[in-house]
Amino acid sequence: MAILTIREFGDLVLREKATQVEDIDKSLKKLVKNMADTMYDAPGIGLAAPQIGVLKKIFICDLGDGLQVYINPEIVSAEDETEEEEGCLSIPNIRVPVKRAKKVKIAALNMDGKKVTFVADDLLARVFQHEVDHINGLVILDRTSGENKRKALRELSECSDKPAGGSY
Ligand code: ZN
Repeated sequence: MAILTIREFGDLVLREKATQVEDIDKSLKKLVKNMADTMYDAPGIGLAAPQIGVLKKIFICDLGDGLQVYINPEIVSAEDETEEEEGCLSIPNIRVPVKRAKKVKIAALNMDGKKVTFVADDLLARVFQHEVDHINGLVILDRTSGENKRKALRELSECSDKPAGGSY
């Protein structure tokens, strides 16, 4: 079991774009295992590779029904809009309302290198968009503005001990 350091807001690696995974080899499998250990330890419900400083297009999540791994994920189409509060393991103690598509069609490779395509809605759709943002160098603060953003930045500069539960 290996717990990796989760990079936090301010770390420039969170601003970089991740690159395509070419080979699903032993080292990639080890990376995914370590990411899972790290996510469950946090605890969180999702984690993208840039959050542990690896600029590869991979994210994992577990919404309570087992570990899901997505390699080279893409959002093919999106519909309907909904706004909910989100938390991020890279921005501890902060929750901000973020507008996301309610439903997204996603395409990715699984751990066997097989292409999977399906439609996700509600929380999975939200987590998927959040993690694809990480892969593109974006965080939830980029998805909010005005008073919500000012409030989050203010809270970020203060000490807080609120739990990170439900973050990704
Ligand atoms: Zn996040």
